[in-house]
Formats: sequence, structure tokens, C-alpha cells
Amino acid sequence: MNLPATNCAVPIFSHMVRKERPVVLHVDDDASSLVMAEGALEAAGFKVLHASNGQQAIDLFEAYCPDLIIMDAVMPIMDGLDAIAAIRKKTMGKHIPILMTTGPDDLDSITRAYEEGATDFLTKPVNFFILPYRLRYMLRSKATADDLRTSQSQLDNAQRIARLGHWQLNSHNHEMSWSREFARIIGFGATRVSGAWSDFLEKIPPDQCDSVRLATETAIAEAHYLSIEFTFISEIDARTLRLEAEPYIDESGACTQMVGTLQDITEHTSAQQQIHDLAYFDLITGLPNRAQLSEQLNATLKLAERTGGKFALLFLDLDHFKKVNDSLGHDAGDDLLMQVSKRLSDVLRDSDALCPPVKAVNQSSHSVARLGGDEFVVLLRHIKNVEDAARVAERISSSVRSPYLIGDFEVVVTTTIGISVYPTDGRDADSLMKHADVAMYHAKEEGRNGFQFYSREIHEIALAKFAMEKDLKQAIEQDQLSLLYQPKIDLKSGAVSGVEALLRWNHPEKGCISPVEFIALAEETGLILPLGQWVLDNACKQIQLWIEKGLGPFSIAVNCSSLQFTLGNIIYDVNNALTKSGLNPEYLEIELTENLFLHNIDKGIQTLSRLKELGIKIALDDFGAGFSSLSYLKRLPVDKLKIDRSFVSELDTDKGDSAIVSAIISLSQNLGLGVVAEGVERHSQLKILLDFKCDEIQGFMICRPLSPDDFEAWLRDNAEVSVAKVSGF
Ligand code: C2E
Ligand code: MG
Ligand code: MG
Repeated sequence: MNLPATNCAVPIFSHMVRKERPVVLHVDDDASSLVMAEGALEAAGFKVLHASNGQQAIDLFEAYCPDLIIMDAVMPIMDGLDAIAAIRKKTMGKHIPILMTTGPDDLDSITRAYEEGATDFLTKPVNFFILPYRLRYMLRSKATADDLRTSQSQLDNAQRIARLGHWQLNSHNHEMSWSREFARIIGFGATRVSGAWSDFLEKIPPDQCDSVRLATETAIAEAHYLSIEFTFISEIDARTLRLEAEPYIDESGACTQMVGTLQDITEHTSAQQQIHDLAYFDLITGLPNRAQLSEQLNATLKLAERTGGKFALLFLDLDHFKKVNDSLGHDAGDDLLMQVSKRLSDVLRDSDALCPPVKAVNQSSHSVARLGGDEFVVLLRHIKNVEDAARVAERISSSVRSPYLIGDFEVVVTTTIGISVYPTDGRDADSLMKHADVAMYHAKEEGRNGFQFYSREIHEIALAKFAMEKDLKQAIEQDQLSLLYQPKIDLKSGAVSGVEALLRWNHPEKGCISPVEFIALAEETGLILPLGQWVLDNACKQIQLWIEKGLGPFSIAVNCSSLQFTLGNIIYDVNNALTKSGLNPEYLEIELTENLFLHNIDKGIQTLSRLKELGIKIALDDFGAGFSSLSYLKRLPVDKLKIDRSFVSELDTDKGDSAIVSAIISLSQNLGLGVVAEGVERHSQLKILLDFKCDEIQGFMICRPLSPDDFEAWLRDNAEVSVAKVSGF
């Protein structure tokens, strides 16, 4: 074949032809070698190009892209070694098989040839019979290498796209090897392919590192699958990575290595989060949507069924919201919805004191959701009674009612609320939702801006309590409270030993209301704190007045609620009352019931001790009716037990009651405590109490609770008579 000129036109071999007849570029300055080789190669199905020096070889290589090159080492103009070096630098030349031909003793050329990138070598004289086989073999291994490179690069691409790297960990020497993508994800240099396990761990933030190490060590030790997610802080941001691996196990069942993947799942997780948010939250207000509410409602139902609790569903609708939307536009409407939702959340947070969180399941006490449009739903997970729901509804109404600033406009909207209560108004989610909705429509019919319970009966009860609560708030300011005084008699001397202050509420319409009816409400609403302070102040003032008038002296017993201990500051209140009245602390006695010690006995004891340090006395009221744990009793710093009226009332007819009273009296004597029997109405009761050697009595038999004036008059008339009354019996 004639040597094609280097500047000749594009060769006639198409790619297809090439596949069938591989093109060999034979470079040699020895023309006879070229001719002889051509004969053998053409006969074996090769197409042959000739070049007689290195430079010509480069030109032909660029023009024809042959499949293989046979290159002589020593040639004029440019030798074979330089030509190989130049060809290898070209993109197309990186992987082309090059067979170097050298003189038989030219070891130096062979070494250099490999260094420059020759694939194989043959010593001259070449065996032209073997040559085609040698070339076929070289072409086949190049094809295999090409395939390998293609699949390697496809794998690299796939891993890069999936952000998935792979790794291996030798469980004996803790050496790791990893793929390029692994190195990229974890921030190792792209060329680094192996390292120590500890190098990898060092890349993980300290707070996550221990759990990754532990999970991997456990997987190795137990030869099981590893899967763990952790946060990795890259140079740019925080990424979520998932490390997974399988153990390779030897014949003994031990894990020799872990082989696995590392995947950057940040986008995947944030997409999942977004999908979750879209599915469970309202886009405008960020509040839970109907789907989430429904899940929460079902969970609350299950819990209530289990615990026998009560909960309420408040259905809210903004009155005339459409007008805002129509007149100010939808953006303004959205703005209003956002502001309303913020207020709802604020009101509910503040209402936590009314409905404390459901601690058992670590749930907040409430949820607020937007159903769509101007409809919101509030779930009060734990209510003690229906008034709790009414109170929250009232707070919501008044909060929603205050003006909103929307752009430059001041907007006022009101809300109408329907309330359903579990279990009275329904035992499943559908009926509770439906009934709250129905109640809301009733409320609208009755003239918006208010709330309505689904059940009429509940509505009446809640409203009545609610009205009372409002009235009670004014009772102190409007001077509707007063104290009555009931004396206690010392059974040894027959003299008045003390007097108990009993609260009365003189309601302008309902007349005199007993504390039994309003103390619980005052406790629920927190009003007990100002109320308790008022009682302490006035009782101390009154007794000091009587002492100054020369009556007595006797002590004043003031009833205190446990909330004054737990929510209020009883030490401060007592100190304050003593200072203001000038009363000597020895004349003040605090009566409290055992429930104070139900929750935190140590704290209760601590407060009582501090009260006693002030010099006042402590009596346990209604003793025997509560929990009366005797083990507590001996630890409590109290001075006196007041036997509950329920045991005294049948004392003279019921053997059981008389046994209890007798036991309480001997118990107090043995503990060195004083003992009072209250509710003594008949001589027959008194006789038994005298027999039992009770210290003091209190009851209608001696005197009913009286106003200060009446009590003063009674005192003047009975101071001595009482002694006679008792001892004369
Ligand atoms: P308590 O402290 O056990 O008061 C005794 C109650 O028994 C008083 O009722 C008194 O009027 C009544 N009583 C006294 N002698 C007799 C009797 O012979 N027969 C009958 N049937 N009853 C008698 P009241 O005044 O209605 O008070 C009821 C409860 O209200 C009190 O029970 C006390 O727990 C609470 N309370 C009264 N005033 C206050 C107060 O200022 N603060 C607090 N936190 N609670 C108070
Ligand atoms: Mg009392
Ligand atoms: Mg009592």
C-alpha cells in the first residue's frame, strides 16, 4: 500500500468498515519491515497505514485515528519513544494499544517505552506469522478495558446523580476504602480513595459521631445490617446523610468487613418534610389543617376513652369576613387570617393555666387548626368542666374582637363559636365536629359574636357559672364580701378559746351565698388568691380590734385554700396581714385541708414550718375526710386536728363514727396535738366528746356563725354562760 500523504482527504474507511477491519498504523524507517508486516496483516484482515518516522506517525494518527499502533523505537526525525509520549497526550491517544518494536538488546528502550505509555513490546526481528495474533489479543484486551472504563464512568455518573458513594471497612484493621462520590460527599480530596475508619469519624460532628460509631461497631459485632442517618456539616450547609452497609461474613460467622453506601438524602428529606407540611399545615396561617386536626382529634379521643377524660372542640367562624375580603382584597383577607391565628395561639398559650398540658402523653393542652376560609377549630384536650371551655371561648371572643391594622386600615371583626364536649355531645370525631358546627350556627342565629354549647343544658350550666365568675371578680371591689365568726369553746375551762372566720358573699341579687358554692369556682379561676388575702387581712384586723376592746384574748382561725400555698405566696400574705393589723402572731391560726400535701409533701412541710417560725398555729381542717395518711401526719408541723363534721353529726347514734372520733382524739393526744370537734349541735354529742376528752368544740349548739356586731353582743352575753352551759351539763 502507498503511504498516504499526511494532508490527504478524509480516509475512505467508514467506522463500520473499521469494526470489521481494524486499522493498524505501522511506523518503521525500515521499508522492508513495513512491507513484510503489511502482507501478513492484510492477510489476517487488518487495514494497514505506514509511517516512516515519529512525526509522520503523529500526523497519521490525528488524521485516521487508527485502532492500534506498531511503533519502532529508533527512527530519524522523531524516534518512537517521543512519538508515543506525544500521542498519549492526545485525548484519542490515551487508551490506544501501542506495540513497541526494539532491537533485541535495547533494554533501555523497552523500559522507557513502558514509561511513555507503550502497551506491549516485541523484539526485532518480528515474527510476522505471530504478529496478527498478538495484535488481535491487544485489541481484545483494549475492548475489555474500554467496556470497564465505560461502566466505571456510568457508575460514577449514576452515583454522582444519586449522591451515593460506596465504601468498605475492614473490621480487623479498621482501614476503609471508598468511591469518588463518597469522598466528595464527606469532603475528602477527590483523589483520596482510602483511609482509616477514624478519619471518617472525625468528619462527623461530635454530637452525632458516637451514635454512628456505636451503630457500626454493633453491626460488626453482631454481623447484621447497618442503617443510620446523621447530620453532616459541609462547608456550605448542613446535610442529612444515610450510611448503610452489609456485613461480609467468614466461615466462622464473624464479620470480616462492612460493605455499604453513603447517600446524601438532604433534598429527599426536605422534600418529604415539604410534602408533610403541605399535607398537614395550612399554607396561609401555618396552623395545622383539617387532616392534622382529624389525626389529633382521633388521638385525643383514644386517650379520653382510656382515661375517662373530658375535652372540648370549639368551632370558630369570623363574622362578616367576606366583607373584608370583598372590600380590601384577598391579600388583606390573608393578612387578617394570619393575625387572627396568631391571637388564637396567644390566647391558648395563656389559657394553659386553666387547662394544664396532658403530662401523661406529653401533649400540649390545646391545638388550633384552620379548616379553610374563615373557619378555625380549637381542640381543648383536657378540661375539668365545661366552664373551662366557656372561659377559653370568652377569651378568644374578646381577643379576636380588638381592632386589627391591615395596611392602613383599622379593621374590626368578631367571631362566633360553637362548642361540643366529649363525651356528652358525641363519642366520635364526626359527631363532635358536626355538633360544634351546629352549635356555631345556633350562636350565629342568636346574634353572632358569642359562643354556644351544643347541648342546651351544658350551655345553661356554663353560663350560670360563668356569670357567677364575672360577679365574683367584682365582689371584692364592690364590698360584697363579709366574714362571720363562730366561736370555739375550751371543754376544760368552758371559755371561748378561739373563733373561726367564715366567708360570706352578699350577692346583690342572689343574697347571701355560702362559700361551699363559690370557693371551688374561686379556686378554678385563680380568684382565690385575692379572696384569701382579703379574708386574712380582715380577720386579723377584726380580732385585733376585739383584743384592743378588751374582749378575749382568743385566737382567730382562718381557712386557707391549698392554692394559696401552691400558686400564691402564703408567707408573704400572712406577714402582710399581721403587719397591717398589728396582731400578735400567736393569735392567728391557719386551717387547711389535707389535700395540700397530695402533690408535694416536702414543699408543703417546708412552707408550714416557715409559717410556724412566724409564731402562728396550724390546724388540719376536716380531718378524717380526706386521705389522712398517718405516716404524713407525724411529719407535719401542725398543732391541731379538727375532726370532720361528718363524723361528729352521727357521733351519738353511729358506733362506727364514735369509734373514729375516739380514735382521732387519742391519736392527737398521743401525737401531742390539740383536737377540735366541729359541727356539734346536740348535748348527746357533747357528752361523748367530754367522755373522750376532746379539747375544744365548735358548732351551732354553742353559737351559729355571726356578724362581728352580733358576735360581740353574743360574747358579752355568753362569756361566762358558756362555761356554765358546758360544765353544767
Ligand atoms: P369549715 O372550715 O369546715 O367550716 C365549718 C363549716 O361548718 C362552716 O360552714 C360552718 O358554718 C359550718 N358549721 C359550724 N357549726 C355547724 C353545726 O353545728 N352544724 C352544721 N351543719 N354546720 C356547722 P360554712 O361557713 O358554710 O363554710 C363551709 C366551708 O367553706 C368551710 O368549712 C371552709 O372549708 C370553707 N370556707 C369558709 N370560709 C372560707 C375562707 O375564708 N377561705 C376558704 N378558703 N375557705 C372557706
Ligand atoms: Mg375551717
Ligand atoms: Mg371543717
